[in-house]
This record gives sequence, structure tokens and C-alpha cells, in this order.
Amino acid sequence: MLADRKQPARRAARPLGSVDGMSAPLEIAACRRLCSWAETGRLRDGERLFACSGCGSEWVASEPWTPIDHTGVIPPAVQAERRRGRG
Ligand SMILES: [Zn+2]
Repeated sequence: MLADRKQPARRAARPLGSVDGMSAPLEIAACRRLCSWAETGRLRDGERLFACSGCGSEWVASEPWTPIDHTGVIPPAVQAERRRGRG
């Protein structure tokens, strides 16, 4: 499916609670109906990196927001990672 018209220069907007001392910013796109989150098997600054196969967004547990699948459910792996991340 073709992407919507890209919004000019707004997609790199800093997430809330922006961080310092971290590496490249996460990709955060506008999630759509296709969202489906899964672990990538990769680490980002020591945290497990999750990615959405629907919109290409990325997430780690220290982010202030929580990914939700197109089903409206927070994926169990994300919930587990959130719990772990809180310590
Ligand atoms: Zn998504």
C-alpha cells in the first residue's frame, strides 16, 4: 500500500521527554491500521529494539509512549519489556 503524502520536514520531530546521550533518534512514523509490533532482535543502547512492520516506527522501553497493534492490543512482548524496563 502506498504511503500517504509525506508531511514536509515534520517526521523528525523530537519525541516527548527527549533524551540526551543517546544515539540516533528512533524512527517514529504515524501509525496506521497495519501496525504490528515485534522485537527486532537487535539492541539499541542496551535496550531491546522493537519495530512496527506496518509503519516502520521503532520503540524501546525507555520511550514515553507505548506501541499498540492494529488490533488495539499492546503486544505481550512489549508489555513484558515495559515491566522489565521499569525495574
Ligand atoms: Zn505502526
